[in-house]
Amino acid sequence: MISFYSIFFLFTDVTEPLLIEVDKIYHLACPASPIFYKHNPVKTIKTNVIGTLNMLGLAKRVGARILLTSTSEVYGDPLEHPQTESYWGNVNPIGVRSCYDEGKRVAETLMFDYHRQHGIEIRIARIFNTYGPRMNIDDGRVVSNFIAQALRGEPLTVQAPGTQTRSFCYVSDMVDGLIRLMEGENTGPINIGNPGEFTMVELAETVKELINPEVVIKMVDNTPDDPRQRKPDITKAKELLGWEPKIKLRDGLPLMEEDFRLRLGVPKKK
Ligand code: UDP
Ligand code: UDP
Repeated sequence: MISFYSIFFLFTDVTEPLLIEVDKIYHLACPASPIFYKHNPVKTIKTNVIGTLNMLGLAKRVGARILLTSTSEVYGDPLEHPQTESYWGNVNPIGVRSCYDEGKRVAETLMFDYHRQHGIEIRIARIFNTYGPRMNIDDGRVVSNFIAQALRGEPLTVQAPGTQTRSFCYVSDMVDGLIRLMEGENTGPINIGNPGEFTMVELAETVKELINPEVVIKMVDNTPDDPRQRKPDITKAKELLGWEPKIKLRDGLPLMEEDFRLRLGVPKKK
């Protein structure tokens, strides 16, 4: 038997219907950086709702398995810490982040309704903050901002109060988790993230120490509804997928630094 197997990334707009033949769909489409998803909130909702509907319609027509990258944002400003998948979240339905948070929550609902109503094979990952080489330099997210600022010799902009926490997963760990979820037998939702938790001040201090001890750390204003804490409980991922992250923040940051240096044209000091 001859089998043809290929993987491709599509440059398309998921809010438009898509007619292709595939076996598996990794549905990652959606801006994930707060500055980008807030820039056009209506389009962000369309991407999550109409886009997910179209991908599910496609999965239904061709009998494909579909994986959605949902988000830790479905937990909102969480009142449970660390966050388990059974926690329903604390989300503002009318705030400036809602287009993303509520959009992803509806996307999860659609996934489960297509699963229950049409028998579609679904997989849902709730992914936590992720970083790594090839990230958009001006993406606006905290790790890329701090590394670019450190390399440019600019102040590291910590948004107040700086005690808010995040847990950062290196990209290769994330990809491994997503593939295991797709190939496994569990629908999810399953948290995929690194449980190592840092305040934004700690992150700034680590970047300063590792990349450029001469830069200063500057406190700036924050944006509304910024979650105060975020840390995945990854018991399910460990038990059901045999997955846990391997790369610690201190080891991942230098790998990203190397790539940012090349792209920003900042040579390493001897
Ligand atoms: N859809 C798509 N590609 C396909 C099949 C469907 O983009 O191969 C879109 C279709 O345009 C529709 C959505 O997916 O808007 C949902 O499709 P479904 O068949 O579930 O619903 P219906 O078309 O019956 O409303
Ligand atoms: N943040 C910061 N400085 C920046 C960008 C972001 O201190 O230059 C903070 C932001 O207030 C938030 C955290 O870093 O508490 C993570 O923000 P990011 O936009 O990376 O992702 P989020 O987890 O909010 O989606």
